[in-house]
Amino acid sequence: MKAVVLNAPNDFAPTELPKPEIGDDEMLLEMKKAAICGTDMRILTGAKTKGVRYPSVIGHEMCGVIAEVGKNVTGFEVGDKVSIANVIPCGSCPACLEGRENACMNRKAIGYEFNGGFEEYVLIPEIAMKSGNVIKLPKQVSFTAGALIEPLACCIRGLKNAGTGFNDSVLIVGAGPIGLMHMQLSKIAGAKQVIVSEPNEMRRQIALELGADRVVDPEKEDLEKIVKEATRGMGADVIVMAIGVPALVNSTLKLCKKGGTVNLFAGFAGTGECSIEVNTIHYNEINVNGSTAYKREDYLEAADMVISGKINLDKIATHTYKIDEFQAAYEMCKSGKGLKILIEP
Ligand SMILES: [Zn+2]
Ligand SMILES: [Zn+2]
Repeated sequence: MKAVVLNAPNDFAPTELPKPEIGDDEMLLEMKKAAICGTDMRILTGAKTKGVRYPSVIGHEMCGVIAEVGKNVTGFEVGDKVSIANVIPCGSCPACLEGRENACMNRKAIGYEFNGGFEEYVLIPEIAMKSGNVIKLPKQVSFTAGALIEPLACCIRGLKNAGTGFNDSVLIVGAGPIGLMHMQLSKIAGAKQVIVSEPNEMRRQIALELGADRVVDPEKEDLEKIVKEATRGMGADVIVMAIGVPALVNSTLKLCKKGGTVNLFAGFAGTGECSIEVNTIHYNEINVNGSTAYKREDYLEAADMVISGKINLDKIATHTYKIDEFQAAYEMCKSGKGLKILIEP
């Protein structure tokens, strides 16, 4: 079978690998669509090496059909359309026991400890089966939307941390795939207005098409003035940083209302260090929080939203490449000219 093998940072290529052989408690997924995530890009370029195996097959946002079922597996049949929640918490570490399985101290993940989605057939290991990480999808859900349930689940975790609710004014910084998901989720959570700041014209346009109330080009317009005018001078109740540029954190904090929340959703580039005026947080009583991965409950909620058609993920997917064309997919991702880039067999 074909697989994109990562040998070392910046050393990856489509390669022939033997098709995985499943055990009695495992399944084999025939990958139909796997999306490239910002984290994958950081892994490919070597900006992220922690927890990465070499050689390995990465890719953690995937959807496909069951190709083989181990003889002890119940509840699944060959041909079932499924998406995979790739993060498998241990269930017994202090973080899991406190109800924070997304921050599990011993988590294992498909796309990290186990080979991921950038290959024709993906082995679904026993622990993923036992943890309920395989979700059946009905026919009407596209493979693309199925693959994007994973990043949506991460955004739902972020939304919960941000506490977005009824009548809130929300600012989303960055209209990449993640920002566009946050924008839609904020509306669904009851926000009265969602302002999106994004320098890329195509991305601003899609944000408008997906329901943003206002889009701003921060390089040409005065974002602070626009946010203040839209909020009676108070600032946004909730701000989600969906772009990992540390230098933007300080100016973003100043756009938040007193007592509001800033969620640092994106993983930040480089060392992630920046200088902030901490008195902005102190005097304005701003809540700053982060968000990492998702709990299985978030994944189920994301799947339900996709199944019920409550959120538009297909519009966020702009390009699809074959496994053999992975280099071109990588270049497209890097260029920022598309949104979600998908791989198919
Ligand atoms: Zn991801
Ligand atoms: Zn754990």
